[in-house]
Amino acid sequence: MNPFTVRLNLHGDLDFFVRSGAQGRRIERSLGEKTSVKDVIEACGVPHPEIDLILVNGQPVDFDYAIASSADIELYPVGARPTTFKEKRLQLSTDRAFVADGHLGRLARNLRLVGLDVAYDPKAEDEQLLYTMKRENRALLTRDRRLLMHAVVRTGYCPRSQNANEQTVEVIHRFDLLGSLAPFTRCVRCNAPLQMVSKTEIIEKLEPLTKIYYEQFRRCTGCGQIYWPGSHFSKLQMRIDQIRLNSNS
Ligand SMILES: [Zn+2]
Repeated sequence: MNPFTVRLNLHGDLDFFVRSGAQGRRIERSLGEKTSVKDVIEACGVPHPEIDLILVNGQPVDFDYAIASSADIELYPVGARPTTFKEKRLQLSTDRAFVADGHLGRLARNLRLVGLDVAYDPKAEDEQLLYTMKRENRALLTRDRRLLMHAVVRTGYCPRSQNANEQTVEVIHRFDLLGSLAPFTRCVRCNAPLQMVSKTEIIEKLEPLTKIYYEQFRRCTGCGQIYWPGSHFSKLQMRIDQIRLNSNS
């Protein structure tokens, strides 16, 4: 087979994945054999879960589409799709449960704080993350692009920012979660749901001042941690308001 050229054009913020060393939004590659469009894309550094629409010579295709001759490839991330080909999107935006890798502890806490279901184990190895992702049907959150490129990953996202609050806003945007937020309904320590609990039931576990000043309590159904609107509460509330605000803009 004679070598042929593919030209990729990255839309939205997909150039995030090729910024270092590559030539920007437009990439040209020479191929010597029939190659799936997914392999072409990932060879350029963009993990497949980040791609929502692929147009090859103007026509929408799936990841396994084989490229065998010169082609122009347009790549769109979630949220930056053109208005046409709406039915050809490759990513689901219905994910409501996540698994975060060991480096994203602050992001995991933030997402739990706004009520989202996030599996997180700081010691989890890649294999365990992928296992949890598959078994519990969770979307994978990781900044490890190689991991995101793993063939078993169906849905996932690489936070662009290194700041946990900005990452939180990114995830809420990417998975369209603004309508699903339910602050203070989930334990930030273990991810289990919180339950209202009467003061009399837990009064023996409370510090003297907490006993006096607070009436409303929630208890984690997993680890038993007790939550009340103490001084840390207003700080958390501010963080949540900030996240809501940023997600709206
Ligand atoms: Zn808990």
